[in-house]
Amino acid sequence: MFFLGTGAAELSPNPFCNCEVCARLRKEGAKPRKRSSLLIDNRNIVDFGPEVPAASQQYGQPLYDLDNVFITHTHEDHFAASTAEILTMTPYRNGRTLEIYMSEKGIAWTFSMIEAMDSVSRGKSSFRKLLDTGKIRFVPVKPYVDFTAGGMEVFAVESNHHANGDGELALNYLFRLANGKKLMYAADTGLYDKKNLEALSGSKADCLVMEGTGGSKPFPDESAHLNAENYVRNVHAMAENDVISNNTAIFVTHICSVGNNYNHEEYQAYLDANCRYKATVAYDGMEYSL
Ligand SMILES: [Zn+2]
Ligand SMILES: [Zn+2]
Ligand SMILES: [Zn+2]
Repeated sequence: MFFLGTGAAELSPNPFCNCEVCARLRKEGAKPRKRSSLLIDNRNIVDFGPEVPAASQQYGQPLYDLDNVFITHTHEDHFAASTAEILTMTPYRNGRTLEIYMSEKGIAWTFSMIEAMDSVSRGKSSFRKLLDTGKIRFVPVKPYVDFTAGGMEVFAVESNHHANGDGELALNYLFRLANGKKLMYAADTGLYDKKNLEALSGSKADCLVMEGTGGSKPFPDESAHLNAENYVRNVHAMAENDVISNNTAIFVTHICSVGNNYNHEEYQAYLDANCRYKATVAYDGMEYSL
């Protein structure tokens, strides 16, 4: 798997911001974070923010073979409508359809957006053209129900993170890859409740990629994002419920620099000091073999 992006919605450092944190990251020459996206393999990707095409070019990770896009939720950093236009101009993918997996409420919101774009476009909007030509197809994901896609068994839970759709909550995905390895992708999310810990209990994921948006910024327990402290609490709760084990490779993604005073090394130092399980702060361009 390959991290095409490990940043939150605003990128890190935020290009429009010159606060102490962003200024310091620039001064230190910190690796920039594009918006979060994880290429599981050449056929499957989780989330598709605005920088995915650029990151694909930068890291030599072509998207030609993609069959399945698993969208966690409709926030722009996870699902960028602007990329639809590139696909309308892509002449040749052997006629393959790109399947876009998303919650039913996320799809309903997306269709209302497509209708709105149709009404202000001369002719059809990019999305409409892709749908009409069969280049893309939306596939509804029912949370807490197993399904198969891209040679994987997939199970999704709903986090406490509200998105654009009416009543839409972000999906956190558990993938069982063709080689039997399990990958849990939790973004966006806050602290897991009992329901999710029980639904995932015993899954013993081989890899956990989870957002740690806030870093050093204080967050309340009910926040729809995790900071470093709540990240560790979630990892510990997952371990107590056998969602992960001692052998799980754990990564932090979706890191924001608003109010987060940790640079990469300081975030890592916090985890090393406070997390009972080895957790690694991911960076853009990081690769891990599952
Ligand atoms: Zn996000
Ligand atoms: Zn800033
Ligand atoms: Zn979000």
